[in-house]
Amino acid sequence: MTHWQHPSFFAYFPANTSEPSILAEFLTAALGAQCMIWQTSPAATELEEVVMGWLRQMLGLPEGFSGVIQGTASTSTLRALLCARERATSFAINKHGFLDGERRRLTVYTSEEAHSSVEKAVKIAGFGKDHLRLIPTGTDFAMIPEELEKAIETDRQNDRSPCCVVATVSTTSSTGMDPLRPIGEICDHYRLWLHVDAAMAGTAAILPEMRHLLDGTEYADSFVFNPHKWMFTNFDCSAYFCKDPKVLTSTFEILPEYLKTGVDRRVKNFRDWGIPLGRRFRALKLWFVIRHFGIRGLQAKVRTHIQLAKELESWIRKDPRFEVMAPVTINVVCFRYHPSNRTVTEEDLEQINQGLMDALNRSGRMFVTHTKLKGRFTLRLCIGQTNTTQDHVQQAWERLQAAVAPL
Ligand code: PLP
Repeated sequence: MTHWQHPSFFAYFPANTSEPSILAEFLTAALGAQCMIWQTSPAATELEEVVMGWLRQMLGLPEGFSGVIQGTASTSTLRALLCARERATSFAINKHGFLDGERRRLTVYTSEEAHSSVEKAVKIAGFGKDHLRLIPTGTDFAMIPEELEKAIETDRQNDRSPCCVVATVSTTSSTGMDPLRPIGEICDHYRLWLHVDAAMAGTAAILPEMRHLLDGTEYADSFVFNPHKWMFTNFDCSAYFCKDPKVLTSTFEILPEYLKTGVDRRVKNFRDWGIPLGRRFRALKLWFVIRHFGIRGLQAKVRTHIQLAKELESWIRKDPRFEVMAPVTINVVCFRYHPSNRTVTEEDLEQINQGLMDALNRSGRMFVTHTKLKGRFTLRLCIGQTNTTQDHVQQAWERLQAAVAPL
């Protein structure tokens, strides 16, 4: 096993869990309820409404947003793109398929740093990769709104139909933050669907001092973040919010006779809010986690992770053998070994840093991973495990220093 819950697991992104979440999963398995519609488990549906309402308030999302739990951010993004496609075509593709050449011109926009799930969703939803525009990012790895507008204008002039923008709040590689407000204003102007992928960073918005990251979310048609990443709730638990659930249900609703119930008009049937019919009782673990830690308890943990990342950044900046590669916006530090006192090529740096990462990981005492930022090999240290403390980050830094000492 790769032990994701180890406090010195600094790779990829957190997929943290906690005792209340594990207990809730025991109980969920023991109850073994199938929560596809209200009648098949009323408490599951109603608890889901309650906890999603709590999450909405905790993140400061707009009041009108409705939430539903999904399996992953990838499937949430697919859902958003399907809704965008259907809204843009007055639900014609659901009905007629992609027969009409006109509809093939629908285009989707996201940044060059967006998660691969956007491309996957573009393919599955039938837009086609040729109709995905990757908008350039600045030195902060955030989408440049002017470039977005330029791409939309060019497409319109070339008889394309701009349909949807996927903005990222915390890119996977480097936690780049797309500016939601100007992007939202552009979407509003051109009447495009705005989906916000805040898979990991959404959790940071439970801190009042980080709420600014979501400034402009009122323009979003849909928003996803994963409590199964950084909110101490074990996989899987993805929180999907939308402005107009009618678009969602009109896109996904199918009502066979055997699923009709006498209460359908009065309740939410979450099977119509997504792709699968069968649903697990995932609300229970969220309820356990929120009730156990309380908002202040959750805030304290997340705040600590962000402070530790800042601290590590300050240590790295003071050491002339290292270079910080991207702004530290939340809990990920992107850096590399790059001694200021000798000239080395990019290829050399890649080789040295790859070797450094392999040596650290081979030790079995910590785990870090890499990315490439503007073509440059970069190490990423992500702080977000439930039990990571300053000691673990300090030890990681000491191990890094020891590893580069002989170089
Ligand atoms: N979006 C972003 C920004 C991510 O960082 C990730 C995972 O790393 C995903 C989407 C995919 O998340 P999931 O595994 O829930 O599909």
